[in-house]
Amino acid sequence: MTTIALFPGSFDPFTNGHLNLVTRAAVLFDQVIVAVMTNTSKKPLFTGEEKLALITAATQSLPNVTVTAAPQLLTVAYAQQLGATVLVRGVRDTKDFSYETDIADMNQTLAPAVETVLLLADKQYRYLSSSLIKEVAQFGGDVSSLLPSNVNDALKQKLAGDGHETQPQ
Ligand code: ADP
Repeated sequence: MTTIALFPGSFDPFTNGHLNLVTRAAVLFDQVIVAVMTNTSKKPLFTGEEKLALITAATQSLPNVTVTAAPQLLTVAYAQQLGATVLVRGVRDTKDFSYETDIADMNQTLAPAVETVLLLADKQYRYLSSSLIKEVAQFGGDVSSLLPSNVNDALKQKLAGDGHETQPQ
């Protein structure tokens, strides 16, 4: 039986912590689908299309990994649509654990056949979050060792461009 795992997230941006998780999930499952979700409580820096292109390029060496832009749909409904029986998420600390177990419990209620698998963040990436990356990069900090190189380039470009966005044309 082929096991398809869905790894949903907002990936704003996709970090080496996310990449580490996908790489490990790709060993555990036959196919891994990274799904770019719209998180309604977060205002994104990158568009869905930008994230899709960046994650596709960053994971191109992983043959059983594909990347999709998730439709406005419940994660479990999307998993069922794709034939995925596993949802992969990462846990960095107790705060994540509590948040992730709430989501997993809700998803289990909605779709008992979809199993959530929580992978512990690698210890070298345990402190790493997309928000922290954005905060540091915004003030000129070097985050190049924490991001896939294409994401680092895109982030620099995005932040350099941001200063001009509010200027009248
Ligand atoms: P969401 O808004 O859905 O939480 P994120 O992009 O912030 O999306 O995170 C997606 C998943 O990746 C979450 O399960 C999160 O815990 C996990 N994750 C985030 N950063 C790391 C990291 N450094 N190492 C491992 N897992 C991580």
